[in-house]
Amino acid sequence: MAARGFDHYAELLARLCLEYSGPSHGRPRRAAPTVAFIVPEGILERESITISSVGLHRVRVPFVEPFRISNGVVAEKDAILIELTTGDGIVGWGEASPMSGSFYSSDTPDTCWATLKDEIVPALLSLGKLDLTQVGDNFAKAGIEGALWDAFAHTQQTALCDLLGIERRPVPSGVAIGIFDTIDELIDRVNRYVNEGYQRVKIKIQPGWDVEPVAAIRAHFPQLPLMVDANAAYTLNDLQIFLELDRFNLMMMEQPLAASAIAEAGELQAHLNTPLCADESADSLDTLDQLIANRAARIINIKVQRVGGLSEALAMLQAARAADLQCWVGTMPELGIASAQALHLAMHPGFSFPTDIEASSRWYTDDVIEPAITIEANGFINVPPGPGTGFTVNREKVKRYEIAAESFSL
Ligand SMILES: [Mg+2]
Repeated sequence: MAARGFDHYAELLARLCLEYSGPSHGRPRRAAPTVAFIVPEGILERESITISSVGLHRVRVPFVEPFRISNGVVAEKDAILIELTTGDGIVGWGEASPMSGSFYSSDTPDTCWATLKDEIVPALLSLGKLDLTQVGDNFAKAGIEGALWDAFAHTQQTALCDLLGIERRPVPSGVAIGIFDTIDELIDRVNRYVNEGYQRVKIKIQPGWDVEPVAAIRAHFPQLPLMVDANAAYTLNDLQIFLELDRFNLMMMEQPLAASAIAEAGELQAHLNTPLCADESADSLDTLDQLIANRAARIINIKVQRVGGLSEALAMLQAARAADLQCWVGTMPELGIASAQALHLAMHPGFSFPTDIEASSRWYTDDVIEPAITIEANGFINVPPGPGTGFTVNREKVKRYEIAAESFSL
């Protein structure tokens, strides 16, 4: 099957945004809401699905060990799983997976749960046309869109990557390592993950934990593909720290400044040889345009959750590559449902650095999909064949970790 190339994604985004149609508000319900999809030519028998019910499951799965970044510490994954059933009885799963607190963004599991329960799902089922571009919560939007794509893929008995026109390939994986109290603990973790095969190491930095840990890792691993992520913890007053980090042959420095400090990031980039990578700054096509105009990053971390779904992620990939920026697929991290969907995205040849998506066991004591995501000794993740993502959801585990549930039907 021939992919239709980049042009297809803007079209895809437009269709997914605009073609949710259902019974008009205030009129008797006559038909189930219909969602139309646009996909590569020649693989479809049908172009749409109808929706009969949506279940929301809020789950908490413990981390293997707490994860500390410049904004705080998390010890469990708090995620919302979306179970969407079509008129044909086919189930698609999505996941909305913001970080808890305001650890990473203003969207949290609580706000996302409320948006899904009180706004998006009722609108999808009964209020008629739903324009996802008008939904403010990108994480909620990404979860719904993921469930729609998964239901559609299962309806077509087709892999998600095929629906998106992406040729299957093993996905190179890198590990993200948090902040520790001591350099010894950090070196121990780097050792562990390098031995597990990860193709590059990213460490989280913050003021007081930056040049010293990078220097220590470089002393132990002179050739290791290495990068840092500040999660917006610095300002331009810290230029000297970045000039020092610039000496360590890093692959990139991720989000050194505040998400909104785009002009300042352009100024910082002008002082550095190491490419800057935008993460928190790059949450939409609009902000991507600002990054390009300000030369504020040479690399973009595209996260399906942060940007609001697979369609927006593909459109941003298209725009970033057109501006000669390099891209890779990041993670919140998510549980297996959203991670598996992001892995299908990450197979796109437009992504040129290892993904942050890692083995389920790197983060979680358990996962809700089967099989778990695993990494090969050579650092690649192979996505299993089969319809949808190739993984299946274990309902018993969803129940085991569930802390709240809601269901909606026509
Ligand atoms: Mg980041």
